[in-house]
Amino acid sequence: MNVLGRDRASASPSIPIAKPFLDTAEADAAHKAVLSGWLSQGQQVAAFEREFAALTGAGYACAVSNCTTALHLALLAAGVGRGDEVVTPSHSFIATANSIRYCGARPVFVDIDPATYNLDPKCVAEACNERTKAILVVHQMGMPCDLVPLLAVANHYHIPLIEDAACAIGSEIKIDGEWELVGRPRGSTACFSFHPRKVITTGEGGMVTTSDPEIDRKLRLWRQHGMNVPDTVRHSAPTVIFEDYVSVGFNYRLTDIQAAIGRKQLERLPAIIGRRRAIAHRYGELLAGLEGLTLPFEPEWARSNWQSYCVRLPDRLDQRTVMQNLLDQGIATRRGIMCSHREAPYRGDEQRHSLRQSELAQDHSILLPIYAQMTEDDQARVAGALMAELR
Ligand SMILES: *Cc1c(COP(=O)(O)O)cnc(C)c1O
Repeated sequence: MNVLGRDRASASPSIPIAKPFLDTAEADAAHKAVLSGWLSQGQQVAAFEREFAALTGAGYACAVSNCTTALHLALLAAGVGRGDEVVTPSHSFIATANSIRYCGARPVFVDIDPATYNLDPKCVAEACNERTKAILVVHQMGMPCDLVPLLAVANHYHIPLIEDAACAIGSEIKIDGEWELVGRPRGSTACFSFHPRKVITTGEGGMVTTSDPEIDRKLRLWRQHGMNVPDTVRHSAPTVIFEDYVSVGFNYRLTDIQAAIGRKQLERLPAIIGRRRAIAHRYGELLAGLEGLTLPFEPEWARSNWQSYCVRLPDRLDQRTVMQNLLDQGIATRRGIMCSHREAPYRGDEQRHSLRQSELAQDHSILLPIYAQMTEDDQARVAGALMAELR
């Protein structure tokens, strides 16, 4: 018995919900960055950006301190300001909605398609009007959202579409018969996270991709205090340069230590995603045909990176009880993706649109452990424990 009085399965080591995949390659890269004497945004950040742009096929990639700051700058670059409305899902990590608030704007929450946990394009079309300044879509849990009809809505209203791709590095979407990585981007910008819960990590970190040089220029200005000359340029200049501060910017810089780690993580990305896809496939086999359990749905035009593996429990089961029973066996799970409209900052807002599917998804889904190092035995334990709950 542990201090909580619960009988933990002492024989089996515990299975976490997620585990970052880093090794001595990342540690050595950080070590070198430290000894280089240049610690904040410098050559490592520039190289990380070039490699990220090459990977995603984006024209430009701008590194920032995390995905929340990435979203903030992306919305500002889209012209979102005080009193504007931005259509977005409630069913997302709260940073999605908060980034809209940072601009003084209001998130207009719309519902999801319960099959994919992603925005329902029909609901988005219904929610847009003259006051809508932008659409902020999410590739939830790494599953690409239905970009083609969503872009059609944005084009109809002549407004920018921003992709919250926090979880979606390496995810693929088929557009006009061709597969491409999320982040090219198809909207005006796409924002990525390198938090340890995502598929690759720099501890904290973010990236914004765009094909618009003017947006990229703004992002670069705003991420370092609105200063018109980067440190790297001033430092290496043979002549004295006086910088100007042309607007109220932010300090949203990534460090060279983080970027050096990120470059090594990018090299590992294909292997990490290969493992995650194999694990997701095996979950599909192990859990197939269980009465009342709904497995994730991958549309034929989408290939997830499986940042999370989400299953919907039958209504007769209590989510918290199932999660506790698994935890008692050393298996960590998480409940379905949160709904921002249920949290204090948004609870008082008028909700114009039904969010029923979002609430049901939060209350009846659980996320199962998934990480590159997960063994077949780990997975069999998770599947076995879940099956026992369903009997
Ligand atoms: C994790 C996450 C974020 C925030 O990313 P940070 O890098 O932690 O700021 C934003 N949106 C979604 C959908 C996320 O999952």
